[in-house]
Amino acid sequence: MTTENNEAALQRRSRRIAIQRLQSYRRAGITHWSQSTSLQPLETAAAETEPLDRPLAQPVASEEISQMTGKVDAAAALSIIEQEVRQCEQCVELVAGRTQTVFGDGSPQARLCFLGEAPGRDEDAQGIPFVGRAGKLLNDIIHACTLQREDVYILNVIKCRPPENRNPAPTEAENCRGFLQRQLGVIKPEYICCLGTVAAQNLLDTKETIGRLRGKFHDYQGIKVLATYHPAYLLRNPSAKRQVWDDMKILMQDMGIPIPG
Ligand code: URA
Repeated sequence: MTTENNEAALQRRSRRIAIQRLQSYRRAGITHWSQSTSLQPLETAAAETEPLDRPLAQPVASEEISQMTGKVDAAAALSIIEQEVRQCEQCVELVAGRTQTVFGDGSPQARLCFLGEAPGRDEDAQGIPFVGRAGKLLNDIIHACTLQREDVYILNVIKCRPPENRNPAPTEAENCRGFLQRQLGVIKPEYICCLGTVAAQNLLDTKETIGRLRGKFHDYQGIKVLATYHPAYLLRNPSAKRQVWDDMKILMQDMGIPIPG
């Protein structure tokens, strides 16, 4: 066989494997995955109508195929963890009060995750983290970093709303820790931005105040962690926005994102 034939055979084989993978996700009930702007049907990824035994009109690079299956793998893995979270009944008080669990939102391939503490009333109602007033401010922070919400992943230390929006109890954070660790293990972000004391202290396993933790990088299992004030704190103390912007500039500079203005 010539090198060209070898290459074509390799591409056909990779394509067949990718399609089989996508079909098995569909059989498992997974029909969409999240791309940067919207949910994409699996059909658009697997051109199933194209016969597999003839060369493709537009050869698909094996790198592209592995990126595609990587995306599906991460989305599928998150979806499995999300199902487990939905069924979790470990924290009796939270289970009794929740409308639904709030798993996470954003790109399964995000370089940057924002970690909050717990869903509030709006999040509990919609099933999406940071959608209330604090969420709107978080959106502004993300946009100020020249990013979109769809570019990052947003999650909380605990997945159920605590009554009266109290802080998560240590046992509740402990019960949810496995879910958080698995989410981060799937997403494999390069950076985590902890929003507020609860997120920073839980992730970094410290009692240090947010005032002392912010402004520099910490490490969580090889991931660079930056802590800053919670958007809800900024709603009560707008003057702290300047410090949050300073923190975001540290993050952007390290991520290689040009700082506007
Ligand atoms: N505050 C949080 O910490 N998380 C949310 O999802 C909303 C508000």
